[in-house]
Amino acid sequence: MIKYISFMNKDTTMAASSKHTSPDAQPIDALIVGAGFAGMYMLHKLRGLGLSAAGLEAGRGVGGTWYWNRYPGARVDIQSLEYSFGFDEDLEAEWRWSERYAPQPELLRYAEHVADRFDLKRDIRFNTRVSAAHWDEAAQVWQVETDAGAATRCRHLILATGCLSIPTDVTFPGLDTFTGEVYRTSRWPHEGVDFSGKRVGIIGTGSSAIQSIPIIAGQAARLTVFQRTPNYSMPAHNGPIPEADFEAWSRDPRSYRAASKDTGGGFQNEANAATLATETAPEDIKAELERRWAWGGFRILGAFADTAIDPEANRIVQDFIAGKIRQQVADPAVAERLTPKDHPFGTKRPCVDTGYYAAFNRPNVELIDLRAEPLREFNAHGIRTEARDYAFDAVVLATGFDAMTGAIDRIDLRGVGGRRIKDHWAEGPRTYLGLMVSGFPNMFTITGPGSPSVLTNMINSIEQHVEWIADCLVSLKQRQQTSIEASAEAEAAWCQHVAEAVAPTLLPQANSWYMGANVPGKPRMFMPYAGGLNNYTEICRQVAAKDYEGFIIRQGNRVLSDSRVFTSQPPIGEIPEKLMPLIVERLTAAGLMPAAQ
Ligand SMILES: Cc1cc2nc3c(=O)[nH]c(=O)nc-3n(C[C@H](O)[C@H](O)[C@H](O)COP(=O)(O)OP(=O)(O)OC[C@H]3O[C@@H](n4cnc5c(N)ncnc54)[C@H](O)[C@@H]3O)c2cc1C
Repeated sequence: MIKYISFMNKDTTMAASSKHTSPDAQPIDALIVGAGFAGMYMLHKLRGLGLSAAGLEAGRGVGGTWYWNRYPGARVDIQSLEYSFGFDEDLEAEWRWSERYAPQPELLRYAEHVADRFDLKRDIRFNTRVSAAHWDEAAQVWQVETDAGAATRCRHLILATGCLSIPTDVTFPGLDTFTGEVYRTSRWPHEGVDFSGKRVGIIGTGSSAIQSIPIIAGQAARLTVFQRTPNYSMPAHNGPIPEADFEAWSRDPRSYRAASKDTGGGFQNEANAATLATETAPEDIKAELERRWAWGGFRILGAFADTAIDPEANRIVQDFIAGKIRQQVADPAVAERLTPKDHPFGTKRPCVDTGYYAAFNRPNVELIDLRAEPLREFNAHGIRTEARDYAFDAVVLATGFDAMTGAIDRIDLRGVGGRRIKDHWAEGPRTYLGLMVSGFPNMFTITGPGSPSVLTNMINSIEQHVEWIADCLVSLKQRQQTSIEASAEAEAAWCQHVAEAVAPTLLPQANSWYMGANVPGKPRMFMPYAGGLNNYTEICRQVAAKDYEGFIIRQGNRVLSDSRVFTSQPPIGEIPEKLMPLIVERLTAAGLMPAAQ
């Protein structure tokens, strides 16, 4: 027999849920799955609006990404002044970040602080994984079940389950025969790991590995890095936030945040929308790239208007970074192996490091190219490649995430007529605005596929989503509307728009996790919306202003509004004339534009 969850709470906003011990009880307004930054802000926001809301979280605490990813060196790649909540001025004023790019322990403390400040934990049930959620058409509610066999019912199901919260299932032959220690960066032991004196192997050279390698190298007797694909990494130049920067920010944080949100990436990056690298003198290109490299982080991404589209322009930045790698790595052969060659710059989320390349100058660090000597298997002592045996005391798996869809896929989600999300997404995730899925009424995704999410400063994307969803729920409640569902037509139109936004760029050319390429069998489809956070925000605003264009809204079984169109348009910025032929060519090749006669 199913045990119904009681969110024992005396608070008025939870009055409904506190009675919620049987299937006949009044469902709560919203159940939020996940207590990372998205789930936390969603809960706070809904409570503040007088809606009954509660959260379920698989981990034992809040913080999501920053709760799970405790590997050495974990830190944010967007400056902390921007990667932090802006929804509450007091919260903003009382928190002082210690560094430009805060480390994981500080980010987790911040998440804890937010939870305590807004008293969130009393409405979150931790250590509880949602395993299934089925739409009950007759009652117009979601029936939600957990892995402990408990259940609850809610009118709205909000998936704040994270884009990068489910590690890939990557395993290796013989891994279970290895007698040493095995760690995953994304499930790092809370008590930490001391590698002193140990022979350590690390598999993967994505962001988590790039952040942890310099620290592990400093501890271990020997560190062997197994690389399949090198990634681009830029120096963070991390340190305390310069006083002048902090003062500039604290004089007017509102304007600062507004400016961050009014960008494609959700952070200030001096994006240069007019100058083309291919039309700039070499010495001016060098000066500009050097200036941005010296500033650090993602700043180099915004240097020229054509690097995201024109391979020739992109090559200029690739060559510049290759030169930087050669400058930092003493052994030219190692530098060569660390230089990306199979994807244009910026087509995977670039990494931001502290001492990554220099780590390879240490005598105790060795780089193994898995393309030259593929990994054959683990054995009791370590790893055997096609070329050699390596003995280890510990191995670190930094093998990435089943991004964007992984956490949603793992829930047995069934919408209208029992349709499974897995079937609906068999050829890749389909959503309307990255917020809702047709056939899945009253189910929202925060930073879901089809939204800018992982191409942005995620906190700004989260705030935008939470606020849009909250407005939507209030609007429904005020009008006594019981359900909202994306129409299949609007969903199809949005998917087409998502495809149109990315097709002109070089982004689809990389075998990236944006494309689902790191997970065997996952459909290849560019999942995030590449049209920019600012444009996306405007589209979402227009959709709501047009009385939720593209959505079907019901009161019980009565359809109140049935919109099958998506007509909202992103504001089109100026596109340099020179890029137009390339853009037209790519849109045509993707079947998104008729071929010229
Ligand atoms: C190592 C790493 C570094 C990152 N660095 C940056 C960065 O520098 N800048 C940036 O913008 N973004 C970064 N990100 C992305 C990061 O995920 C977001 O910035 C942000 O933390 C996402 O918050 P969230 O609440 O949406 O998701 P998460 O923080 O992932 O939280 C989701 C929560 O949902 C829970 N959950 C999932 N499924 C279930 C279920 N079925 N039942 C119950 N609970 C469930 C998970 O346990 C998790 O706690 C990084 C991600 C990783 C993994």
